[in-house]
This record gives sequence, C-alpha cells and structure tokens, in this order.
Amino acid sequence: MASPSITLDTAKDSSGEIHVIVGPMFAGKTTSLLRRIESELNAKRSVAMLKSSKDTRYAIDSVVTHDGLKFPCWALPDLLSFRDKYGHQAYQKLDVIGIDEAQFFDDLYEFCCKAADEDGKTVIVAGLDGDYLRRSFGSVLHIIPLADSVTKLTARCELCGKRAFFTLRKTDQRETELIGGSDVYMPVCRLHYANSQVTEKSVVQSQNAKTDSLLEAVADD
Ligand SMILES: [Zn+2]
Repeated sequence: MASPSITLDTAKDSSGEIHVIVGPMFAGKTTSLLRRIESELNAKRSVAMLKSSKDTRYAIDSVVTHDGLKFPCWALPDLLSFRDKYGHQAYQKLDVIGIDEAQFFDDLYEFCCKAADEDGKTVIVAGLDGDYLRRSFGSVLHIIPLADSVTKLTARCELCGKRAFFTLRKTDQRETELIGGSDVYMPVCRLHYANSQVTEKSVVQSQNAKTDSLLEAVADD
C-alpha cells in the first residue's frame, strides 16, 4: 500500500506524542528528559528544549541536572510565545519539544494540545506532580489525560535511604513557588513525610496549648 510520496509527507502527516515524566525533587526527572532528548538527536530529529525563566538556579540558557548534565535551552515566561520567538519556519521543521520544570507554566495544557494534536510534535514534559504539601503543582497533572505515556520517578529518602515519593521543605516558608535546591528541599519516603507532618502539627498544637494555658493563667489572676 505504501506509495513513494508517503516518506516525503511523513513529517507533516505524522501525529504528535506527549510523554510526561513526574516525581519529587531529586528523582532524576531532568536527567531522564535529557536522555530522551539525546536519543531523539541520535535519531536525527530536530529538538528544542524549553524551561521556565522563573528558575534561575543554574544557567539561564541551558538545562542542567543536579549531577551536572547540560543542554542548551530557551528560558521562557510562558509556552505559547515560543513559536513566535523561535520563528514560524523553524518551528515547522521542529520534531521534538522538551519542557523542563513544567509546573511553572500556566499554559502547559493549551501548548501541549496544540503542539501534539495540530502541529504533530513529540512533546516530552518533565515536572513536579506535587508541591511540598503534596498538592497538585501547576498544570502538570492536567496534561495526564493528553499523554501517551506517564513515568513517575522516585528519589532516595534523605533520612533512611528508601524510595522517596515526596518533597519535604526544610524551612518554614509557606509560599508554593519557593525555588531552591537541597538547602530548602529533601526527598522523603512516606513514613518520614508523615512523621515530619506530625512533628510540625504537634509543635503548632503545643504552642497553642501554651498560649491557652497562659490565657487561663491570666484569667485566673
Ligand atoms: Zn525515609
């Protein structure tokens, strides 16, 4: 059934793909993303890497893993502006788009739909599925229904060495988007996540209890 013209039109006619890599911090998400990008490059496909301009921990114009692996990239405030910035013709020729730290992009769902469904791109997305309170982070979970594949990676618990599924914040700052590395966050297993929450709650409760007894003491006077 194959006709010679099929090979010529493959790029235009082939449908896109979406692959999602999630997990806690220090699980090797960026490394895994870069490995996939590398194998796409080896297959002679043209690739662009995008990351959020919010994350300036490492070089702004490259994606760098915790273990030092590096790849040039576009640091953007949002994803939908990428096409204009990259150039429409260049965008047409692009096969694969890698997105790192995807939790920082509000237009992730819209961008992935368009890139994969309409433009036939392979989109490989890496990001945190949850924040330090294990709540859904940004729109990473919103794109699961769009995905061809979802990979959840794990790290090693910093306290016991078992598999770690969660990111624990070491400081008591409360904002969701507190960008930091091992100075601020550590990967933990379920037991150590749960234990730390109990400790935190009991500290608050004992503080409240102290306040209550002080008030009672004042009332007694
Ligand atoms: Zn542990």
